Formats: sequence, structure tokens, C-alpha cells
Amino acid sequence: MRQYHAAKQQAPTALLMFRLGDFYELFFDDAIVASRELEITLTSRNKEKGEAVPMCGVPAHAAENYINRLIQKGYRVAICDQMEDPRHTRTIVRREITRILTPGTVTDAALLRSHENNYLAAVTLKDHRAGLAWVDISTGEYRASEMDVVELLPSIEQLNIRELLVPESARDSALQGRWVVTPVDGWTFASDRCEVLLKEHFKLLALDGCGLAARPLAVSAAGALLQYLQETQRSALDHLDRPTWYDRSGAMLLDAVTVRNLELVEPMFSADLDGRKDATLLSVLDQTQTGMGGRLLRRRLLRPSLDRAEIELRLDAVEAFRAATVERTKLRETLGRMQDLERLLARVTLGTANPRDLLSLGRTLALVPAIKPLLAPLQAAPLQSALAALDELADVRDCILNAIADEPPVTLNDGGVIREGYNAALDELRHLSRNSRQVIAAIELRERERTSIGSLKVRFNNVFGFFIEISKSNLHLAPPDYERKQTLVNAERFTTPELKELEAKVMDAEERSQNLERELFAEVRARTAAEGVRIRSTAAAVGEIDFYSALAQVSVERRYSRPRFSTSGEMKIVACRHPVIEKLVEKEAQRFIPNDLYLDRGSSRIAVITGPNMGGKSTYLRQAALMAVLAQMGSYVPAEDAILPVVDRVFTRIGASDNLARGRSTFMVEMTETAVILNTATENSLIVLDEIGRGTSTYDGLALAWSVIEFIHERIGAWTLFATHYHELTELEERLEGVRNLHVSVREAGDQILFLRKVEPGAADRSYGIEVARLAALPMVVIERAKEILATHEKSEHTVTAELVRPKQKVHEPALQIRLFEPVGWQIAERIREIDIDNLRPLDALKLLAELKEELGPE
Ligand code: ADP
Repeated sequence: MRQYHAAKQQAPTALLMFRLGDFYELFFDDAIVASRELEITLTSRNKEKGEAVPMCGVPAHAAENYINRLIQKGYRVAICDQMEDPRHTRTIVRREITRILTPGTVTDAALLRSHENNYLAAVTLKDHRAGLAWVDISTGEYRASEMDVVELLPSIEQLNIRELLVPESARDSALQGRWVVTPVDGWTFASDRCEVLLKEHFKLLALDGCGLAARPLAVSAAGALLQYLQETQRSALDHLDRPTWYDRSGAMLLDAVTVRNLELVEPMFSADLDGRKDATLLSVLDQTQTGMGGRLLRRRLLRPSLDRAEIELRLDAVEAFRAATVERTKLRETLGRMQDLERLLARVTLGTANPRDLLSLGRTLALVPAIKPLLAPLQAAPLQSALAALDELADVRDCILNAIADEPPVTLNDGGVIREGYNAALDELRHLSRNSRQVIAAIELRERERTSIGSLKVRFNNVFGFFIEISKSNLHLAPPDYERKQTLVNAERFTTPELKELEAKVMDAEERSQNLERELFAEVRARTAAEGVRIRSTAAAVGEIDFYSALAQVSVERRYSRPRFSTSGEMKIVACRHPVIEKLVEKEAQRFIPNDLYLDRGSSRIAVITGPNMGGKSTYLRQAALMAVLAQMGSYVPAEDAILPVVDRVFTRIGASDNLARGRSTFMVEMTETAVILNTATENSLIVLDEIGRGTSTYDGLALAWSVIEFIHERIGAWTLFATHYHELTELEERLEGVRNLHVSVREAGDQILFLRKVEPGAADRSYGIEVARLAALPMVVIERAKEILATHEKSEHTVTAELVRPKQKVHEPALQIRLFEPVGWQIAERIREIDIDNLRPLDALKLLAELKEELGPE
């Protein structure tokens, strides 16, 4: 127990699995937690000495499975192993923590999704700035960045991390999410220390080359990560990339809300039963064949580029692959046979690779030469640089393939890992133990003849070694030189001096041969690990090739076209389709109706789209947003022709009801999300607003929607698509220069309506709410009564908007200008002038006063 407590102190926050013989045992609170989570029996120990110690255990040979389950539930697990063979020691065996497994540091294939990165991140805060670093130890990717505190959470969300290290002091901060928060000592983040640590590990004189010079927050976060990895992995971390500065300004920022609304990687309703589980943009696009390619695709999808030159290069690569059908097909077939080089390499360097991992790595490298000639004729720059980066690694490949047997066992314990003929000493030892089988057979035959016991057997077991077994009925025939060894119910076991001698020789040979295999394997693994940098760059090149060929494949299969980019700020899409809905609709043997979209910097800056529910408004909106994401990640787009601006951000705010399950007031959610958009969008953003204002009363909702459009029009000037059921909003076309009306068309046929799903200029004439309700099989009585009520209300309704109307506004005047040329407090004076004192309640007056003061800001 003293040994146990010492180990526990080294990993206080982890569940400690303590090796005792054939079991891993957990004690105290760890045992209570583990027995609950793993549904295993809780027992106790030391009952007789007063305090009983809770305890539970799992068999060592099945431990992996239990450990994985704990990690998946977000626990950290420390493994304390026996460091000596109990047979060779007379005292208590030495035990040490060999690994600490945490959700952010797993490398076991069973715990990883092949097309997703498994990020561990660390964050540090100072004043209004934050340092953020992230690493995927299963691949080696390692990056660091700095940002304003307000951008921290969206950045973390965009990364899709598993575990976040925070300084102890920030453990209760708002940095909660779908990741495990691990508090670590504050001093871990001290930037001087971190810098030294990083320089030492990566053997660098300065961090300039990584872009981290004079970026102390990024350095702290990166350093804290490294220290955590060293503590938990306790092995070489040679496969890690140097932490490099991540320039966030190069990527389109997609916040969590937008990623969810657009269903980029996860469907909105994950429990959907009608087969929409895979209804995400990622699932349509991801035709990659390797883990490297899959992860790259996902990363680029979630961080589309802002660099036009970079985007064009990516499109060139896709185009080259589109044209080269034969090469593409052969290449994809070859890629399909490749294993996950990055993750195999990670396990090799961490020392957890088993014989099959190493063999897979060797065989995957053996496929590289087949790729090169297929790539050679493709001229696009990204493909040529990938070709140049592809290292055949013949030395590593040969080393592995020469050493490892064709079908090695998973573990090293059973022997048979090393190929015959690889090592003379090993062959000899093996010969000896194999030969012994023949010797035994010969002894058996001879003894049967000598004793004339036909059923006499020579056998071996781990406890008694070699023995001769004779059944009870034949016992009287046993010769006197047989020494009795063990008595069974029906048989007697004997040994002889000859057998004893053989036993010693064979056991020795087997043990020596196993040890030698272990050594040889470790040697091959170490030689492979030593070439980590080369393997890593080949893996990255394979990922690139896979990425481009997959996008080309999708674009051919789904008839996508190459987007072009405008500098004038024009967005002109001919026959645009929604990539995901299109597929779903096709599955039901229907046709997706393509639609055009036109926006510009002038009179079509904001499109207000009206039309009945189910008419196709959301689909139209989302497909526009998806076009921007697709084009800027480097993909072709589902349209006949597309001219697009490069947008800095895509914002979405989609139907209030969608958030019902999340438990917050839907209206509050809607307004919070809208606030984010209005406060952060720029004139180069694309804003997609669907049914905003729905969560409150009609009049409030309409008023809010109206003023939101005015604000975007006057202050932001972003490209905006606004779908609404407030018919009144179509009046804005008359009032605001940059607003255009569109509607989704329907055809009336008697009492019925038919959705044409064609988007056309102008406002919808009616909302057709009642007709849509009829489609949903509402009782006829309700439908008829609703019609009556509608008829009486229709006259009064038109008065609503008159009060909202302001004089016609000019299109987007940059906010900055207004501030520069207006006297300070001008807007406040304006607001005071507007106050209707007679109708102002005292409470509202106070609130207003507070707001005005706030607006003036500090002195
Ligand atoms: P709204 O937002 O107007 O209520 P949606 O965009 O949600 O309507 O569309 C409703 C359904 O109509 C979608 O789920 C889809 O199945 C179908 N749909 C939408 N647009 C199209 C289209 N262009 N072609 C074919 N079907 C479409």
C-alpha cells in the first residue's frame, strides 16, 4: 500500500490502475468510480484491520477495453506496471507509472475516429489576450496562436478539441464545452520556463523559426502542452511537429452556431430517424481514402481560406485531377490500401506500436512508389510539391519488411514476430525449441515401447515443465527410474533425468528467443522512429493528394463546377444547388430545383425572401452559405456557374424552434446570436438570417427584424440573405436602396398549393400558411375557421408597418466615417430629442439614462 500511495501521489487526478499479478486493481475512491462506470463488482480489502479499503479490478489481458471505456467517459487513467519479473525477485516487485492516458492524448485506434483529429489544447489568459495551443499526438500536428479573449471560445469550438488544459486559477471559468477541462498548476504556464522547455525538446536555439518569437502567450500555452505530454506519455515525443504559429487571419472564422446551422460536420438533429444521420456537407464531400486526407478535408472545411491565391492553387489541383480520370482512379485505389501513416508513426514513436502496426507502416510505405508516376503528369503546383515531398523511404520500408514476419501476432509475448532468416542467433534458438518437439516425440515413442503402455504421453505445462503421464490403470507398468511428480485423479505424472535436462535447455532457448525477438523488434521500431520527420512529411503529402483527388471525384460525380472570384464584390451563381438536400431529394427519386442567386455591392446587397413554409427558403439560404465555404476551402461548387467574392466570415441565424431542445428561452438564444452577428460582421461577411423575430410577439418580432435589416444596411453592408414570414418586410425594398425582394414560388390549384421551389424576383403575394397547414392534415373545421378569422383581420393588418417606416436611406455608409465627422455625442443628442416624455414610465426613464451613460463610455 505504501507503493500504491507513492504512485497515486504522482497522478492525483487520474484513476490509478495498479498491477497486482494478473489484475489491475483500483482502490479507495478510484475503485468506487470505476466500479460504477465499468459496472464491475466493488469489493474490499483489509477488512480485518478496521478500515476496509474499497477495491475493484480488471484482468490485465482485457485491461485495454476497460481503460478505453473510462477515457471515453472523460476520465484520466494512470497505469502502474510491475517493472520486474516476480519470479526473479524475492522482495516486493518494483512498480512504476508507465503511462497516463487522457481523452486528449490517446493514440489507440479504438479510441480515435480516423477522419477526425484528436486535439489536446491549452489556454492561458492575460489581461484581454489569450494564448491557445493545440496538439494532436496521434498525428504530431502542433500549433499555437494568440487572440483577444472574446475570440477564444469560438476558436476553441472551431477546433473540436477533446481536452483543454487551463491554469488552476481558471478552472471555473467559462471555458466549458464538449471537452474535458484539466486544470494544471499555474506555474506550468510561466513563459520563460516554457520557452526553455520548447527549445530543449525541439533542439532549437530560438523560437523565431516557429513564428513564436515575442509571442509569450502562445509560447506559454505550447509549453504547458509539452510538459503535460511529457508527464503523461513518459516516452519519446519525437514525432511531434515543432509548434508553429497559426495565423488565424488567414482563415474564415466559422462559429459553432454556424457550423451547426449549416450542418457542416454534424446533422442538426443527430437522433433523426429518417436516415438523415449522414446529412452533412462533410459526408457528401468526404470521399477521401486515408485518415490523413480525411482529417485534412475536415480541417479545411471548418477553416476555409481567405487567401485568394491559395484558393486558386487548390482549385487548380482539383481541376488537374478532374481531367486525369485514369490516374485519379488508380491513385484512389492505391490510397485505399494505405494505412494511417501519421497515427502508425505516432504509436511507433511513443513505443506503443505492436508488430502489426509496424508491418502496416512498412506495407504502406511500399505503396508510395506506385503513386509517384500517377502524379507526375499532373501539373498543378500543390500536386507537384506533394510529389516532391513524397519520400519512398526505401530504407525504412526494407528494414521493416525484412525484419517482421508476414503475419505477426498482435503482441510480442507469443513469439513469431521476427521473420525467419533475419537474425542467425534467433533462427538457432528457434531451431532448438522446435527441434525439441521432435526430440519429445521420439522420447514418447521410445518410452511407449519400453513400458508397453500405448497411452503414455510426454507433455509440457507451465507449472511442471516436461513430464510423462501414465493413466492409473497402467501404473504397475511404470519403470523404477521414473520419478513421481504429480498425482491426478486418473493419472500419475513422472519425470526423468533426461527430461529434466531437456526442459532446462528448451525453456532457456524459448526465453532467450523471446527476449531476442523483443530486442530485434525494439531495434526496428527505434530505427523507424528515427526517421519520423521523413515519414511525417510523406504522410502529409499523401493527405494532400488524397484531399485533392477526393474533391475531384466528388465534383465529377456530383457535377460541380469551378468557382471564380470577383473583386467587385459581385456574387452571381447560376443554377445553384444545396449539396446535401440535393442528394437526399435524389434518393427519393425527386428532382432538386436549382436556383440562381445574385447579390452585389449596390442595389442587391440584401435579399429579403418571402414565401410559404416548406417553400424552400431555408434551403436557398443555406446553399448560398455553403457555396462560400466550399469555394474557399478549395472545392468545386454545386452550380452551373459561380462568381463569388471572398468572404471573411459566414454568419447564420436559423429558425428559433431549432433550438428548443437546448433549454434556453428560444427568443433569448435568437437575440444573443443576432447580437453576435451585428457586433462582429463586416462588409465582407455573408449573413444568412432565417425567420428572425419568430420567438416573440408578431409586432415585436417584425419591429426587430425591420431594424436589424436597417442596421445591416446602414452600418455593416454585408451580403445578406433574409428569409421571413413577415410579409411587411417586403416594403423595405422601396425604402432601402440595397434591398431586393425574392420569393419562392408556388402554384395554386383550387384549395391546394404546389411548391415549385423556384426563387423569383419580387415579394410573395401571400403566406399560404393555411394551405400549408392543410398539407399537415389539420382537421378541416380548424382550417375553415382559420380562413374566416383571416378574412376579418386582413383589412386592419396593413396599418402595422406605416409606423415603422423611416425616410429612404442611402446604401451602407461605413460606420467609421459617421464617427469621424460627427460631433461627439451626436447620436445621443438625437436619441434624447426622440424621447416622448409624456409616455415614458419612470423605470424606463432610468434604464434609458443608464443606456445613454453607457454609450458615452468612460470619461
Ligand atoms: P422553408 O424554409 O421555406 O420552410 P425549406 O427550405 O425547409 O423550406 O424546404 C422544405 C423542404 O423542401 C426541404 O426539406 C426539401 O426537401 C425541399 N426542397 C427545398 N428546396 C428544394 C429545391 N430547390 N428542390 C427540391 N426540393 C427542395
